[in-house]
Amino acid sequence: MSSESIAPARIEICRFPAGKRIAVTTSFDDGHTFDRRVVDAFNAWGLKGTFNLNSGKLQRTGKPAIESGDRTYLDASEVAGLYRGHEVAIHSVTHPWLERLDGSQIATEVLDDRKALEDLVGYPVRGMAYPYGSFGPKVIETLRGLGIVYSRTCENLPNCFPPAEPLAWATTAHQYASNPSVPERFAQLHATRHYSGVFYVWGHAFEFHDKKDWAGIERIYKPLSGHADVWYCTNIELFDYEEARRRVQIAANRKTAFNPSALPVTLHVDGKLLDLPAGKLVALV
Ligand SMILES: [Zn+2]
Repeated sequence: MSSESIAPARIEICRFPAGKRIAVTTSFDDGHTFDRRVVDAFNAWGLKGTFNLNSGKLQRTGKPAIESGDRTYLDASEVAGLYRGHEVAIHSVTHPWLERLDGSQIATEVLDDRKALEDLVGYPVRGMAYPYGSFGPKVIETLRGLGIVYSRTCENLPNCFPPAEPLAWATTAHQYASNPSVPERFAQLHATRHYSGVFYVWGHAFEFHDKKDWAGIERIYKPLSGHADVWYCTNIELFDYEEARRRVQIAANRKTAFNPSALPVTLHVDGKLLDLPAGKLVALV
């Protein structure tokens, strides 16, 4: 590159990989056999889920749990296979109200769940959802030293990402939200040409059972799937990409960009998408 090369006028670091406009992510709690129906549907439609599990409630028979027609916990032996391609995350060992516990019990509930789930899935488990949505300053302070990247609450916010406090992360909506419903709300945002953001839905698979509304999986979630301008990701993938994009170094003369992380990041260079591969220095002129 010569010193006379003309640098691009503007370089943007895309919010999501491949310059996608919207990220759709979901979160399901408790790990009952009902999750199988959600996973099957999501696999068929290309949606991603984060599944928050209580390791102390999982069955330990070594065989897939038998559906009882009511809430039955999965067997530990089926966790890795069932959730492959999705994210397994912490929901504490025994599902207590964390806010009512002292620091050492909070730490034990979270760290023991983390270790037990890691033994099952074979990767670092760094995400979490609060049982009963119960958290407070003491819970957050305790979690800080335990390697938890984010913890989901039961609160809703129109702009939920990136959160000011990742250990008090709100969602966009509960899956049975009304006025607007989840598919209505998604359709409105998706139809807004310049809208860009994260669409984050949470719930429990047992709600479809309790409401006798198994058709709800398709009615609520299928409309979110299959859009070329949407990134379908797990919760932790959102945070990992966000961290990678924050680490990108753009030269002040706008002639080079360096991606020091292990994830590719997408740039928008004078209106054109450009892949900035992991660990690479790229010339922009
Ligand atoms: Zn729960």
